[in-house]
Amino acid sequence: MTAFVIIGGGLAGAKAAEALRDQGYDGELVLIGEEEHRPYERPPLSKDYLAGKSSRDDVFVHPPQWYGEHNVDLRLGGAAEAIDRSARVVRLAGGGTAGYDKLLLATGSSPRRLPIPGGHRALYLRRLEDSEAIKASFGPGRRLLVVGAGWIGLEVAAAARQAGAEVTVVEVAELPLLRVLGREIATVFADLHRANGVDLRFGTQLREITPDGGILADGTALAADAVVVGVGITPNTSLAADAGLDVDNGVLVNASLRSSDPDIFAAGDVANAMHPFLGRHIRVEHWANALNQPAVAAAAMLGRDAAYDELPYFYTDQFDLGMEYLGHVEPDGYDRVVIRGDAAAREFIAFWLRDGRILAGMNVNVWDVTEPIKALIRSGATIDADRLADPATPLDSLT
Ligand SMILES: Cc1cc2nc3c(=O)[nH]c(=O)nc-3n(C[C@H](O)[C@H](O)[C@H](O)COP(=O)(O)OP(=O)(O)OC[C@H]3O[C@@H](n4cnc5c(N)ncnc54)[C@H](O)[C@@H]3O)c2cc1C
Repeated sequence: MTAFVIIGGGLAGAKAAEALRDQGYDGELVLIGEEEHRPYERPPLSKDYLAGKSSRDDVFVHPPQWYGEHNVDLRLGGAAEAIDRSARVVRLAGGGTAGYDKLLLATGSSPRRLPIPGGHRALYLRRLEDSEAIKASFGPGRRLLVVGAGWIGLEVAAAARQAGAEVTVVEVAELPLLRVLGREIATVFADLHRANGVDLRFGTQLREITPDGGILADGTALAADAVVVGVGITPNTSLAADAGLDVDNGVLVNASLRSSDPDIFAAGDVANAMHPFLGRHIRVEHWANALNQPAVAAAAMLGRDAAYDELPYFYTDQFDLGMEYLGHVEPDGYDRVVIRGDAAAREFIAFWLRDGRILAGMNVNVWDVTEPIKALIRSGATIDADRLADPATPLDSLT
C-alpha cells in the first residue's frame, strides 16, 4: 500500500490530511505531531482564548474522532527527528519509524528568543500552554511588559489591557508594525493602543529581564509582574536542512509546493514557495496560507497539476479594531498610500501602490471588500488615486 507521511500537527498538517482524503487518497496516512494535542489553530491563543472568551474545545481543527473516521494514524507527543531520504523513512523520537512514498513538511515556526540577561524569565506565545501561562499573568492591577510591537505583541497588549492589566510595550522601531505597514498606517495602531491606555516606548530595547520587570537600554527600569516577548518567528527547517533539502528562509518549494526532492513537499509557515502572481519565492506566516496551501500540496502529492497562487491574506483584532490585509508589499516597496474613508475614526481601506498599481489593501472596520480588493491587485491596472480614495466610487468600477 502507498504511504504518505505528514510531519507537523498544526493547521497545515491537519488540513493536508483532510485534503488528501477529500481528494480520494485511500492509502496509509500518518500525521506526526510533536505536541501532545491534536492539531489546533493558533489565532485564538492571542485573541478570544487569551481573553477568556472561548474555551479550549474551540481551538481544535477537527474533533478527536475525525482522525479515526478518516483513517489517519495520528502520532502525537514525539517529534520526527530525521528523514532518511535514501530509505524513504522518517525516524521518530523514541525510536519509531514511518516509511513514506510522499512526505509533507508542515513543521511551522518557533518564536525567536531574546538573547539578553534574564531572558529565561520571558514568556513566549506559540502553543496552548503559552497562552494559558500568559493569561494567568493578567488581571486588574497586574503589570505586563510586552517586548515587540508586532502582531503578537499588540494582540497580547490589547487582551491584557482588556483584562485590566497595566501594559507597557517596548519596540526598537519608531512605530509598531513599521516594516509591514509603513509609517502612514503604523500610526493608526500606535494611536489605537495609546487611546486604550497602553504605555508605548518606541526606539528603545530591553537590555535585561529582572525578577521585578525589565531594564531598558538607557537604564530605565520598568516594573512588571510578567514579560512577554513577541519579536518574530523562525521557520522550523532543521529536519529539512539535515536531510539535504534546499532551505533558504524556509523549505524552498516550487508553485506546486514540491521541494528539491520530488517526493517531499512543504506547506504553511515553513514553506518558502514560488508564487506565480508575485513572480518570486515568498514565505507567509499567516493562518490563511496554512489553511489553503495544503489542498495544493495534496494534489501535487497525488501527481496532479496544482499551483498555489492565493494572494497573502491575514487579519487581526485589537480592542475595537478588526482588519483584513491582502497582498504583499516589501518594506519601501511602495511609493504611495491611498486612504479611502476615515483613518482617524479607524474605519477605512488603505491601499499601497507602486507606479499607480495596487500591491496591497487593508480594510479596517469595513467588511465584505476582500473580493474587489483582490480583483484590483490582480488586475495590475493603473488606478486613478482620487477615485480610489473616494468611498462613493464603487471599487469594482475602478479597473
Ligand atoms: C498566538 C498566535 C496568533 C496568531 N494570529 C494570527 C492571526 O490573527 N491571523 C493570521 O493570519 N495568522 C495568525 N497567526 C499565524 C498562524 O497561526 C500560523 O501562520 C499558522 O499556525 C501556521 O500553521 P502551520 O501548521 O504551518 O505551523 P504551526 O502552527 O507552527 O504548526 C506546526 C506544528 O508542527 C510541529 N512540529 C514542528 N517540528 C516537528 C517535528 N520535527 N516533528 C513533529 N512535529 C513537529 C510543531 O510543534 C507544531 O505543532 C498566529 C500565530 C500565533 C502563534
